[in-house]
Amino acid sequence: MKTELLNGNYGLLPESYLFSQIARKIAACREKHPEREIIRLGIGDVTRPLVPAVIEAMHRAVDEMACAETFRGYGPEQGYAFLREAIAAAEYASRAIDISADEIFVSDGSKCDVANIQELFSADCRVAIPDPVYPVYLDSNVMAGRGGRPGPDGRYPRIAYMPCTAENGFQPDLPPADARLIYLCSPNNPTGTVLTRSTLEKLVDFSLANDAVILFDAAYADYIGDPSLVRSIYEIPGAKKCAVEFHSFSKSAGFTGVRCAFTVIPREMEELRRMWLRRQTTKFNGVNYIVQRAAEAVYTPAGREQTREVIASYMRNAEVIRKGLKESGYTVFGGEHAPYIWWQLPDKIGSFDFFDFLLEKCAVAGTPGSGFGPGGEGFFRLTAFGDPEKTREAVRRIAEMPPIPA
Ligand code: PLP
Repeated sequence: MKTELLNGNYGLLPESYLFSQIARKIAACREKHPEREIIRLGIGDVTRPLVPAVIEAMHRAVDEMACAETFRGYGPEQGYAFLREAIAAAEYASRAIDISADEIFVSDGSKCDVANIQELFSADCRVAIPDPVYPVYLDSNVMAGRGGRPGPDGRYPRIAYMPCTAENGFQPDLPPADARLIYLCSPNNPTGTVLTRSTLEKLVDFSLANDAVILFDAAYADYIGDPSLVRSIYEIPGAKKCAVEFHSFSKSAGFTGVRCAFTVIPREMEELRRMWLRRQTTKFNGVNYIVQRAAEAVYTPAGREQTREVIASYMRNAEVIRKGLKESGYTVFGGEHAPYIWWQLPDKIGSFDFFDFLLEKCAVAGTPGSGFGPGGEGFFRLTAFGDPEKTREAVRRIAEMPPIPA
């Protein structure tokens, strides 16, 4: 095929997606040591099954689909009103935030929403991205031509990186004045840290003053245990004029394989709200009825209690990892309001080299920090989604690990 025919921006992306690279290394290790059990604390996928309230709702919806009187075909592209109203009531009204059902767009995942939203903005607008962070924000903008050609250090010259380091408490500073699209992720994947109210206030004030838009990914909001911490950007005065918020049922209710999420674009950003509606009605045909009934069930009293218990079980794993690594003398961050533990590696070892070392010495797989941006170098991500016993075993193996080479 003629290369002029193709979107050349794809050639500017790193060679392969982080997780497929890791999967290949794990497969190679399995082949080399078939007798060893590899404990995977790497990929951010849940392991516990859907809760009973969700399963019951799905069964009921399947039965409805079997009857001519209750069968449903195409649904509304924005999502069924029953789900959007349940979201507005449970996520917002209950916390005294005024978000209505027509500001909510149900989708089949936050990954597609955070990747697709950029197409509503001009091709040359300056994008600011926390470093490190979930790679989809960067990659989707590079695909759209907003990155430029990466330098030898892998940095894209047109992207404004917002460093989130141990030194700044993982709270990004303000981006450059010309930044117009500001991605935020709180609790953050991979650092497991939560943005403070004062950080968010500064970023909202900046956005209002500079006509910028905040894209706030709250995929892990339900892992925030402390009610004084900010769960939704709309808790910050003025945010409804400048922020879009993304939520997912993936990590809050185990929907990674089921697929359901929602995006909020407030009426105060009417032009953008209408554009997203236009985009979704053109390119998306809605989430299936059974899944939307399942998501609605997450907000019933039984659904809430059951999903809370699942999250609590993952957070017990997080505590095991956090405490265990600290007791072994390591420096770790996160893991208190997020299912991610951000492990600061001793100086000099690269995070990809450490991945190989940990896999070889302990048969434990994690995720190299550099996969989340240049600022992730020197760190390693462990996740709390594993089986409790295997998580404890992984921590035991790490406690007995030989010294990390420089
Ligand atoms: N946003 C963040 C920060 C994530 O870590 C993930 C998944 O790991 C997603 C979005 C994707 O969510 P979904 O499963 O709804 O596509």
